[in-house]
Amino acid sequence: MTAPLRLRLDSAALVSNWRHLAKLSGAAACGAAIKANGYGLGSRDVARRLAEAGCRDFFVATWAEAAALADLGLSVSVLHGLRAEDPLDAPYARPVLSTAEQVRRWKPTGRPCDVMVDTGMNRLGVSAEEIGAGLLDGLVIETLLSHLVSADEDVPLNARQLAAFGALKGRTAAKRMSLANSAGIALGADYAFDLTRPGIALYGGWQRPGHDAIRQVATPEAQVLQRRTVRAGDSVGYNATWIAPADTEVAILNLGYADGYLRCFSGKGLASAEGITLPLIGRVSMDLTAIDVTALPGIGEGDWVAMSYALPETAALSGLSQYELLTGLGPRYERIWR
Ligand SMILES: *Cc1c(COP(=O)(O)O)cnc(C)c1O
Repeated sequence: MTAPLRLRLDSAALVSNWRHLAKLSGAAACGAAIKANGYGLGSRDVARRLAEAGCRDFFVATWAEAAALADLGLSVSVLHGLRAEDPLDAPYARPVLSTAEQVRRWKPTGRPCDVMVDTGMNRLGVSAEEIGAGLLDGLVIETLLSHLVSADEDVPLNARQLAAFGALKGRTAAKRMSLANSAGIALGADYAFDLTRPGIALYGGWQRPGHDAIRQVATPEAQVLQRRTVRAGDSVGYNATWIAPADTEVAILNLGYADGYLRCFSGKGLASAEGITLPLIGRVSMDLTAIDVTALPGIGEGDWVAMSYALPETAALSGLSQYELLTGLGPRYERIWR
């Protein structure tokens, strides 16, 4: 059985993006956020390629995501920390502890951990006050982390978080400190500390000047199930939102919102084949999408088209975030690396 859809993945672009971010990170080590199955691309495939390029620090969200990488022998940190249900003795990852309760549970293991400190996000993390009161005393801390709220914007909060995090230097037993995500790396050398944690820019996300050299990694491809001539005045798809202004050649693709190609692409998305751009027409359905192929007489049943999916442009077009564009891609794609 072959997969109905393809996700073309560019190894060279992934590695080149990591190298670029590593260079921007200066003397700091450059890790990789590979949570949510490597932002939808496949965490094992991403991790293997980046490890080969020299990446040594990987971040996932859950212990299940870490377990899926266990045999790769990587250094993996679990950002969701340590729930009561999570293992205290898993050899393949360490928690990023973020509450006093988690610290209390982990401390007796004597094993290394990471710690998240909150500097303004108000999501996960212990407070600077708790640290001051000795909460982390006796822990073996590999990395002290904090996370930037608005690194993709030029706002005063960036400098405030930088100062709050910087003030913790030497105040814990942590061997390393880590603040910057993809956008944070491009904020400047001050933000790099000892270790950076890019995610989206590895996968082709562009958020700030400094990301200019970032290359597209993932391109969805769909197959033509049927080609038809739609007569002027006839409609295509649910609710007849598109009416043919003239006789139009239409190809129906096997791609839809169940594949993360959401309804916001209706009437806006673009595909291409043989270098010719083919606009979407009508509504995106659950498993089907129509494109105008009048400009490409040769295309027909069984042929493949590439969907336009450069992240910054596609986010602007669709209203989805660059993150949603990748993590929403479903299980129907065969992920094909070159
Ligand atoms: C997801 C995540 C990152 C990576 O963020 P990007 O914006 O994708 O670069 C870094 N650190 C933490 C704590 C995260 O949750």
